[in-house]
Amino acid sequence: MLRVGITGGIGSGKTTVCKIFQALGISVFDADRSAKWMMAENAALKNQLIDHFGPATFSVDGTLDRNYLAQIVFNKEEELIQLNQLVHPFVLLDYESWLLNIPKAPYSIREAAILLESGTYKDLNVIILVDAPDNLRIKRVIQRDKRSESEVQSIISRQWSMEKKRKFASFIIQNNEKEFLIPQILHLHELLISQSEHNTSA
Ligand code: ATP
Repeated sequence: MLRVGITGGIGSGKTTVCKIFQALGISVFDADRSAKWMMAENAALKNQLIDHFGPATFSVDGTLDRNYLAQIVFNKEEELIQLNQLVHPFVLLDYESWLLNIPKAPYSIREAAILLESGTYKDLNVIILVDAPDNLRIKRVIQRDKRSESEVQSIISRQWSMEKKRKFASFIIQNNEKEFLIPQILHLHELLISQSEHNTSA
């Protein structure tokens, strides 16, 4: 089965695009959700987080204190890198076991916001970038999350620029509300099915 990754900056429309792939029968692994689950539930990872960030990472009843962790990593890039380095191996293990349990199909998708920044894209056969102009992404996230413009700008400034991400992409989906989304996805779906057939027969 071909391993496809989908990424894009905040508000670019990754989840929206993945919902359309799911409607076509394609299984989608949500790496961000897996990371949250692993941090909250996986004992080995919890121990590593406590070792690095201290016992206050979890409250007395054992729940992850997201605000505490967010405060540490928000303005310290090296702490954010450290957090990602601890969490990603667990997410990748979760992904591998997820792959064993999904229905047979020509390809499956791993959706991750920081697929490229984290360097976790290397096992993937294909990388799809969902692209949208910054002003549209900001407008969408303000509407969806009720965040302020400066908060969204600050998140964008800590992610790779779309320009940098484009260099890694096998395919780009334009989600700019000018080009129709569904025909682009149907076209890619056909391409990925034929690439999968080509890989199998090679
Ligand atoms: P994040 O990285 O924050 O999780 P995302 O890349 O997964 O974001 P979505 O959640 O898919 O982005 O989209 C952000 C918001 O923009 C959502 O409310 C979604 O409904 C809306 N949106 C996405 N694409 C479109 C579109 N083509 N037309 C209208 N609204 C859209």
